[in-house]
This record gives sequence, C-alpha cells and structure tokens, in this order.
Amino acid sequence: MLKSIIYTSEEENLLKHCRLCPRECGTNRLKGECGFCNLDSRIAIASVCNHKGEEPVVNGEKGICNVFFSHCNLQCVYCQNYQISNRLSNVNYTSAETIVDKITAVLQESENIVGFVSPTSQIPQMLSIIRALRERNLQPLIVYNTNSYDRVEMLKRLEGTINVYLADMRYAFSDLGYSLSGVKDYPEKAIAAIKEMYRQKGSSILTDKWDKIESGLIIRVLCLPQMQQNSMRILDLIAENLSCNVQISLLAQYYPPFAMADEALNHRLSQQEYAEIVNYAIDLGFSKIITQELSSADTFQPDFTKNKPFETVL
Ligand code: SF4
Repeated sequence: MLKSIIYTSEEENLLKHCRLCPRECGTNRLKGECGFCNLDSRIAIASVCNHKGEEPVVNGEKGICNVFFSHCNLQCVYCQNYQISNRLSNVNYTSAETIVDKITAVLQESENIVGFVSPTSQIPQMLSIIRALRERNLQPLIVYNTNSYDRVEMLKRLEGTINVYLADMRYAFSDLGYSLSGVKDYPEKAIAAIKEMYRQKGSSILTDKWDKIESGLIIRVLCLPQMQQNSMRILDLIAENLSCNVQISLLAQYYPPFAMADEALNHRLSQQEYAEIVNYAIDLGFSKIITQELSSADTFQPDFTKNKPFETVL
C-alpha cells in the first residue's frame, strides 16, 4: 500500500489476517481493511518526542525518545492519552524514513533509548522502523511500552529485539476490565503476556556502569482511585504467577482527563489509598518498588495537540 514501508513476508502475513492482539479481528490490513483498532498497514504515529515521564532508571538524565503510536487496542475510558489513543481520533500516516529522521534528531538530546508507546497494533510497523534505524547504524535500546493486552505468540517474535518491557497490569477482575476498557479477558491475557516478558527478561534490571538500563521488565500498576482492591489483587497475581522479585512501579499519577461517568474516576488518588497499596506490596514481599509522589498527577498530563502532526502520506 505504501511504497516506503518495507515489510518482510512474515510481517506481511501478520497484517494480511490480523491477529496481532487478542481481539484477533482477522482483517486484511494490507488491503486497507481496519479491525477494531481502526488502523490499516500504514504507519500511524502521533508524536516523536523527548520524554522524561518514565521511571528514573529508564529516563536517565536526559529522557528518552518516545514514539507514540496512534490508536490503541484497548479503549480505556480514563485514558490519559485519549487525544491520540481513541480509535476514532484523527490519524496522520507517515513513512519509516520520516520517523527515523525525527528519532535521529530527538536522540541528539536524549539517552540512546527509543520507547515505542502502545505498539501492539503496529508491531510490523515498529519492526520496520527499527530496521530503518539499524540501516542508519543507529543502535538505540528499544523499549516496548504496552498496556499488556498482547498475544504471547507476538511477544515471542520480539525476543532479541526488545531490550526493556514497560508493561501495564491494569485489572485483576474481568468485569472491571470490561466496564473500563471493553475487553472481557484482560486479566488472563495480560498475565500470560507478562509471563512471557518475564521468561525473556527475568526479574533483574540490568544496568551499565553509569546505572542506565540495558535490559529488563518493569510492571506498572496504575493505581485508580477508590479501587485499591483491584491494585492489591493485581499484586497478588504478579506474586502468584511471576515472583515478588520482579520490578514493579506503582503509579500515582492518575487524574480524570475529563468528566467521567464513573464517579470514582472523577477523583485523584488519595495519599491514604496509595499508602494502602504500597504497604500491601511490601507486606506481600515485593522489594523492588518504584513509587511516585501524588503531585505527579499534575506533571504527567500530556497534551498532544501541541505537537505538530506528521505529513500525511497517501
Ligand atoms: S491489532 Fe487491530 S486489527 Fe489486529 S487484532 Fe488487534 S484490534 Fe484487531
């Protein structure tokens, strides 16, 4: 469809009958069909920018180059990135070359790390960008930053390509996943996906002599207001299915991005709610816990309308 994207035959096959994520739509995206995520086979990216909002061990001093993909295979009602993640939001299609140009520029001022955000629906596109980077002799660390509604089979294909997994674990209860993100099988799919990441990376965060990350898995728990039971049960699931030695990150940064139908989501997390979750993690035996100040809800409010869109490539 788009001459400037060079897919391998394996990637073409993935797009011909799309089962990249657990929705398994089966659409032929190479022919321009769109499944649930409303994306065809072109590269749909909303922003490439220096980003300092990841965990300190990932950010380093200078921040990393984040590539924010448009649309998302989950549609969380509270999504902090809703401007670009909504499956009906405007998309600007672009070429791998344009993205690599932009990444190259951003890497001048960042750590030598590229983070792909919400890549699940565009894994072949991500791989084509990584290839294009390698062709220019750029070897940044690659971060896969995901909501974890991923298929194990796809993650197995990424072994050896991804250096760092930043993996959300959103829900422990299926009904909550259905009401807030529209999928009935989130806990089982996400735990299976994270177990695969754990198989690849183990529980150790490997760093270089400057304490910059080289490899690892960080599991993120976005602590939602008035839903401590969900966060605590997530911690149980991680302990039961992986290990208490894994690196977890308890995010306190939730803020209501607009008026929520669910009244609980109209609040920010309270200090007491957050402390309950942190203490629960400690009591369970987790020792590698990254915490946040509650004030992070003020600082991590992305506004993608400020970014210049990429040119549309037809
Ligand atoms: S990536 Fe998109 S088209 Fe493919 S299975 Fe998931 S939602 Fe459907």
